[in-house]
Amino acid sequence: MTAKIIDGKALATQVKQAVRGEVEKLVAAGVLPGLAVVLVGDDPASQIYVRNKKKNCEELGIASQVYHLPADTKEEELKALVDQLNADPKVHGILVQLPLPAPLREEEVTAQINPEKDVDGFHPVNLGRLLRGEKGLCPCTPAGILALIKASGVEVVGRDCVVVGRSNIVGKPVAHLLLQEHATVTICHSRTRNLADLTRRADLLVVAVGKAGLIDGSMVKPGAVVIDVGMNRLPSGKVVGDVDFPSVLEVAGAITPVPGGVGPMTIAMLMKNTVEAAILQNGEKLGKD
Ligand code: NDP
Repeated sequence: MTAKIIDGKALATQVKQAVRGEVEKLVAAGVLPGLAVVLVGDDPASQIYVRNKKKNCEELGIASQVYHLPADTKEEELKALVDQLNADPKVHGILVQLPLPAPLREEEVTAQINPEKDVDGFHPVNLGRLLRGEKGLCPCTPAGILALIKASGVEVVGRDCVVVGRSNIVGKPVAHLLLQEHATVTICHSRTRNLADLTRRADLLVVAVGKAGLIDGSMVKPGAVVIDVGMNRLPSGKVVGDVDFPSVLEVAGAITPVPGGVGPMTIAMLMKNTVEAAILQNGEKLGKD
């Protein structure tokens, strides 16, 4: 059996088309959605991500501003910029590109963002809403993963889902989203014993670790849906996931490729969150409660 490839690029294009439609409606109602991206320091990968976010905004008609601060920026200065953006009615979404250079504290800085403008969904209020199953801005990668799972056509209700990785930005939120969808969820991490015994039970396996080839075909249940979140750059320059693609392809029912799976969905969900934030902040103007 060869697994079906879940095409993240194609799904991201569909999501972005819908976002473009929402942007047009907002603009017609006098609201131009705006995203502010704050980049601190000169990390090359972060610079690429920020450029990509700006490019996507331009494609969809969203106004974007990039604030590039030096690596030695003080936490107070960064928080002051966030406050300024919180108060700016033209800015509906604020994203502080992570990781921040030391000694800046990511928890402190992300908690400074107005939860209504927190398009990354990392603010404690938005993470709390997710935990309580309430509406809020949801972290982009987990939201993208859920959309990919739904697109694969797999039934989630009552199924055994295993999430490998427990970070605040991917593993934990995706586990909660799946729980909300009524899956039976197991979360694995670096101290998990007998990882393979657990992953082999999964109807749905989400891997977000950052270790190339961690999951091979022998660790996957035949027919399972496998979502590979990992992005690992090999010495050759090639980017691969956490899943050993060739061996898992032979066992799984469906699998996301790297690149072309979760990555494009993350950015599409950021665009969607920006528009949702603009709608949230302009309820009165748009005639909504
Ligand atoms: P973190 O480093 O924050 O978390 C990694 C998690 O993996 C931790 O919970 C860790 O456990 C766990 N882990 C480490 N080693 C093992 C192991 N041998 N067995 C089981 N679990 C293990 O990473 P992120 O969540 O931020 O990212 C994970 C991957 O996803 C990375 O490759 C990243 O680049 C990629 N990524 C991709 C995105 C995209 O858009 N495609 C977006 C975000 C991330 P413990 O908690 O015990 O340390």
